[in-house]
Amino acid sequence: MAKKQFKAESKRLLDMMIHSIYSQREIFLRELISNASDALDKLYYKALTEHIDGIDREDLGIRLAVDKQARTVTVSDNGIGMTREELEQNLGTIAGSGTRAFRGEMTGQPDETMEMIGQFGVGFYSAFMVADHIEVTSRALGSEQAYCWVSDGVDGFTVSPAEKEDRGTDIVLHIRPVQGEDNCDEFLEDYRLAGIVRKYSDYIRYPIRMNMPTSRPKADKPDEYETVTEEQTLNSMVPLWRKNKNEVKPEEYNEFYKNKFFDFTDPLRVIHSHTEGAATYHALLFIPARKPFNYYSREYEKGLQLYASGVLIMDKCADLLPDYFSFVRGLVDSQDLSLNISREMLQHDEQLKRIAAHIEKKIHTELTAMLQNDREKYEAFYKEFGLQLKYGVYGEYGLHKDRLKDLLLFTSSYEDKPVTLAEYVSRMKDGQKAIYYACGETVEKIRRLPQTEWLLDRGYELLMLTEDVDEFTVKALHDWDGKEFVSASSEKFETPETDEEKEQAKKQEEDNKPLTDFLTGALGGKVKAVRLSRRLKSHPVCLSTEGEVTLEMEKVLNSLPADHKVHAERVLEINTGHALFEKLRALYAADDKETLTAYADLLYQQALLMEGMPIDDPVEFSNRICGLMVR
Ligand code: ADP
Repeated sequence: MAKKQFKAESKRLLDMMIHSIYSQREIFLRELISNASDALDKLYYKALTEHIDGIDREDLGIRLAVDKQARTVTVSDNGIGMTREELEQNLGTIAGSGTRAFRGEMTGQPDETMEMIGQFGVGFYSAFMVADHIEVTSRALGSEQAYCWVSDGVDGFTVSPAEKEDRGTDIVLHIRPVQGEDNCDEFLEDYRLAGIVRKYSDYIRYPIRMNMPTSRPKADKPDEYETVTEEQTLNSMVPLWRKNKNEVKPEEYNEFYKNKFFDFTDPLRVIHSHTEGAATYHALLFIPARKPFNYYSREYEKGLQLYASGVLIMDKCADLLPDYFSFVRGLVDSQDLSLNISREMLQHDEQLKRIAAHIEKKIHTELTAMLQNDREKYEAFYKEFGLQLKYGVYGEYGLHKDRLKDLLLFTSSYEDKPVTLAEYVSRMKDGQKAIYYACGETVEKIRRLPQTEWLLDRGYELLMLTEDVDEFTVKALHDWDGKEFVSASSEKFETPETDEEKEQAKKQEEDNKPLTDFLTGALGGKVKAVRLSRRLKSHPVCLSTEGEVTLEMEKVLNSLPADHKVHAERVLEINTGHALFEKLRALYAADDKETLTAYADLLYQQALLMEGMPIDDPVEFSNRICGLMVR
């Protein structure tokens, strides 16, 4: 019979499996048992939803058998089984969900890669770590004919008709012979296999049985013991999430998480809860330590696994998580849900809504606690997922902003660490009415903006917003506890002054009105107005904006694909304390309109440059500067 070839990626993986030295080979058993358990889940779910008679949950299980002479380990299940096509398809390609995630991450060195395999497994293929020949005999539900898939590894595989009495799958592993240091014989020991089952698969909800030697008193001589072989159930079958919180070790949660959700880093936080009352459910939730590689993309699918009385009914139930907490992984198991519920019905299910509301609250409480009690961890979390919380503030028209505002962190001029808004407000100076912020590409650039100089000089704390979404977030928030957010570049920004100073300023403004009017006209509509400024210190000019759209928002919005470009209303502010202001006044007094017009334009373009905005005509700008240089 012609051998079929594995798909290219599978081949590479198999090759690695066979030719590496493994520290964690034992995980092969976890992988095979987990596949068997899935096959039993699928069968049971189908039987329930399609009303197939003759399938009793009591009869479902997994069996292990060892034959030391023949050097084989067999893993059997009476689950849904595989058809010929499924054998070829499923075991000939890396197609499984877990293996897909693995493929996405598989960029590292062989050692790293192997460690990853150890930590979160690669499904069926891991069996080649301990076996050099594998036979999979399977009979699918509803089929009379069984098929056998056979492979020695990279060469490929064959599938042929076979005999099998019952529905399900038998996987026979021919354990590799000892070759020097390479020794797999431990996996032919029953106690070793039993240990692996207890370590990784204790919570599997079907019995995993194996013949084990046990000693018991002899029937005729009760004082003497004999060793007999007896079938034992190796696992406790209590799913981790149904166990009592204080019975579960942190490592168990971590292992469970990594194994189930295909991550290779321990979660940052585990939320394990059992709720009774209006909604009765168990929830086991995890806050990952790292964002998945596709997290901030359309491909990422949020959702929790949903179990109805221990039976998996949906792999990613999106309705259980709000978008702003979409990073949470985990599962919910409730006895209140019907097994037959369809996706459409679930969306309107009151019980599910109640559970979702509880879960949202739990996550919120947990994050708040982390922020208060374990700041370092929270900052690590925020680095990965803070962006999602900010989206959450302005998404859905700001509906959730009050829920989220206390979870936000911003970079601040106060210290080199992100701060909360509560911290900012608690440190506000006497008489300070607003929360000041400025936007820019980097903290460094923000510190050097003309508009921030005055504030920073006088020791006002400034939030430094460097991410595109930041300003949209603070705009959506509008205020924190009545303290409005004010951009250092906006018209709303007022320097706190005495009445006398204000009076003086007003007079100065009136006196210079002809000059500023002339400059506004000279800029021909590029700015809404030219004004005298008191927020500047060493720089001659800066740009500020009027209205809702700021320069930063203009930059961000116009970088998105849209037909309509937005425009921020610009105001050119002139520093009255700068020598240049005197120069402008002198030119105006001398009625040198031509030079004044050229200067107005240069100052405007300079202000744009300082904001990190493109200037209208760089060539013209350069010519004008050269003109001045040779004068
Ligand atoms: P994964 O479990 O990540 O999907 P595997 O390589 O372990 O990847 O398995 C591939 C597929 O083969 C599974 O998704 C499943 O459809 C099928 N399979 C594996 N083992 C069994 C089994 N014991 N019974 C039925 N189907 C199985």
